[in-house]
Amino acid sequence: MTNTLLDNQKIESETPKPRLWMPEQVLFTPAALAEPWGQKIKQRVESLNLPIQELSANRITGIRGETERETYNVAKRTLAVVNAPPSAFKLSPIPPSADWQFHLAEGCPAHCQYCYLAGSLQGPPIIRVFANLPQILDNLKSFERPKEETSFEVSCYTDPLGIEHLTGSLAECIRYFGTRSDGYLRWVSKFDAVEQLLDLPHNNHTRCRISVNAESVSGRFEGGTAPVKSRLQALRKLALPRSQGGGEYPVGLVIAPIMLLDDWELHYTRLFDLISEAINFECDLTFELISHRFTPGSKEVLQTWYPSSKLDMNEETRSTKRNKFGGTKYVYDTDTMKKLRRFFESEIQRRYPFARILYWT
Ligand code: SF4
Repeated sequence: MTNTLLDNQKIESETPKPRLWMPEQVLFTPAALAEPWGQKIKQRVESLNLPIQELSANRITGIRGETERETYNVAKRTLAVVNAPPSAFKLSPIPPSADWQFHLAEGCPAHCQYCYLAGSLQGPPIIRVFANLPQILDNLKSFERPKEETSFEVSCYTDPLGIEHLTGSLAECIRYFGTRSDGYLRWVSKFDAVEQLLDLPHNNHTRCRISVNAESVSGRFEGGTAPVKSRLQALRKLALPRSQGGGEYPVGLVIAPIMLLDDWELHYTRLFDLISEAINFECDLTFELISHRFTPGSKEVLQTWYPSSKLDMNEETRSTKRNKFGGTKYVYDTDTMKKLRRFFESEIQRRYPFARILYWT
C-alpha cells in the first residue's frame, strides 16, 4: 500500500463529515419556478424537507425586521430562488483573480466578520440563487477570447460550495467549462463538502480554491464556515489523482485576509504546517495572498451586522488607497505590507517549490 493511500485512510477516519447549511425558509418567485433549473432546485430542496414558500410576485419582500440585526438574522436564514436580472448578462472584469466574473448566486450563509460582501451587495444579506443558470452559462461564450485562455470567477458574490447541496449549480458550471476549449472556471470556498464534485468531467478547466487563515483569525471571525483543517482535507481530495479517489483538479489556496496579529509569524507558520500535512504531494497548486482591507462603507455595514466584533478596523493605523472609481480603502502601511509579503512568499517558495504565487495584494 502506498503512503498516500495510507495517509488517505488516516485522514478519512479523522475528518468529520461536512456540516451543511440548511435555510429556515426557501422562497421561489414565479419566474424561477418557470425555469427548468428552478424546478431542479425545488426538487433538491423538497428532498431535504425544507419549508418552501411560492411567492405571488417576482420581488422578495417581508425580510426586514425591526432592527438591522434582526433583518440580518432573518435574511441569513433565507434562501430565495430567483432569476438573475438582465444586468447579470453583461460581465465585468475582475483583476487580478480572473478575466471576467459571473454569478450563480448572491449572498452567503456564513458569518465572516470581515466579509467583503458587506461592501459590494446592497440590502438584507439574503441568499439569492439563480434559476436561469443555463442562460447565464450560455452567455459566457461571447466573452471568451478565441484560441486564448479566458478565465471566469464565480465566487465574487457568494460561496458557491456553501450552497451546492441546495442548488447543484457549481457542478453544472464545472460540467459546462469541461466542454469549452478556451473558457476556464475558478471558484473559492470556506466550506468542505466536495464529494459530489470529485467525479465530474472537468477536463482541467476548473481551478478549485480553498480560502484559509490562521486558526486565531478563523476561530474568531469566520462563523458558520468549515474548520480550516476540514477545508484543507477537502482541497486534498480535489487535488488527489482519480486513481486515489480524488478529483484530480488544478487547485489553489487563497490565504485571506492576512492580518497583522500579535505573533503573526507564529500563527501563519502553524497554518503552513497544516497546509503541508494536507498537501503532501506534488500537484497543480497556486497561491493567492490577500492582506486585510476595508472601506468606509464595508466598515459601517459590518459594524451593524457584528456590533461586538473585535476585528481591527482602526483607520488611524492604516494607509489609504484609492480605487479606480475614486473610492477609499484602508490597507496596511508599505513597511508592514513588505514584511508580510516577504514572509508569505518565502514560506511558499521553500515549502512548495512546484506551486505558483498568482498575486499579493
Ligand atoms: Fe463572506 Fe466568504 Fe465568509 Fe461567506 S465565506 S461570509 S462570502 S467572507
